[in-house]
Amino acid sequence: MPGASLSMTPPESAAAPAADSGLRDGFGRAIVDLRISVTDRCNYRCVYCRSGESASAAAGELSWPEWRRLTAIFHALGIRKLRLTGGEPLLRPGLEDFIASIAGLGWDDLALTTNGDKLAGRAEGLRRAGLRRVTISLDSVEPEKFARITRVPAGFARVQNGIAAAQAAGLRPVKINAVLLRGYNDDEIEAFADFARRHAVVVRFIEFMPLEEGRLWTPEIVVPLREILARLERRHPLRELSHGTSETACRYGFADGAAGEIGIIAPVSRPFCGHCSRIRMTADGQLRTCLFSLREWDLRARMRAGASDSELRDEILRAVAHKEERHHIGEPGFQRPARTMVHIGG
Ligand code: SAM
Repeated sequence: MPGASLSMTPPESAAAPAADSGLRDGFGRAIVDLRISVTDRCNYRCVYCRSGESASAAAGELSWPEWRRLTAIFHALGIRKLRLTGGEPLLRPGLEDFIASIAGLGWDDLALTTNGDKLAGRAEGLRRAGLRRVTISLDSVEPEKFARITRVPAGFARVQNGIAAAQAAGLRPVKINAVLLRGYNDDEIEAFADFARRHAVVVRFIEFMPLEEGRLWTPEIVVPLREILARLERRHPLRELSHGTSETACRYGFADGAAGEIGIIAPVSRPFCGHCSRIRMTADGQLRTCLFSLREWDLRARMRAGASDSELRDEILRAVAHKEERHHIGEPGFQRPARTMVHIGG
């Protein structure tokens, strides 16, 4: 009888919003994108991220079964884009098995952010496990400068091999993240564009955000979008590409039709908070609704105290309802979060 089902109390499992009604924050933004930091340990010490002295939180990391449980709950709430990150996610044993265990839930995107150092031997297995694509950090296309920024002497060749292995394994498109720092690598904007064309990759320039351990950030060290664009245009004319409203990067192809693509992520000079669709989980099980959140939601404590799936779901809904409207970088009274990027998950 068509009318009968309308008066039925929904079963408990149906109480979460359906994927098509989705997860929405207090400002009406659809939240579809989750980043999980699987570890906050890292084998690189990039100057814009780490001091190199911070302690590892390995002891507090969620176990893989805990991650499987939470991932399924987030998926049931409408999360459709999942990115695994860190710290350096390839340092955590069991990553491939975890990916294989959650790949079948059904994702619009299932991606990994890595420094690429250990990727060469892993790319094929990650692909077989169900990973779709990778973003690889590469902050210089010159080996000496790469070593100065990452503070890892011989990493450059390994990362190049990692990029090649990701392409060979079909983890496409391969995206390259470069954080531009005035005085370190801002003279390489054109060289990065050449790199994108030569290797048929997406190079994404990221404005430096005040989330580092080493207190390097000043407004002057940030290389803003308009400067990057002007320099690129002089080297290779660009054409703007359309992008989804929740995408963080402004996207450009090369006007001459060459392979490769440029993205510019400008959280400082052109914030995209109004379209933010992201939430994050730290390696120790804290839900963060913004990179710059001053508050975290402790799902680990709740889980370990015996919370049911529906209690965890309610806590996630509460957190999302409190998602910050925007970050306040550059405004008077801006407060850095207590944790830095490597501990939040980039
Ligand atoms: N270890 C992986 C890697 O190197 O890509 C994943 C973690 S890392 C924290 C994720 C991304 O955050 C990297 O692309 C990195 O360049 C970026 N990142 C780190 N600190 C940043 C900062 N202060 N401002 C902007 N981007 C930053």
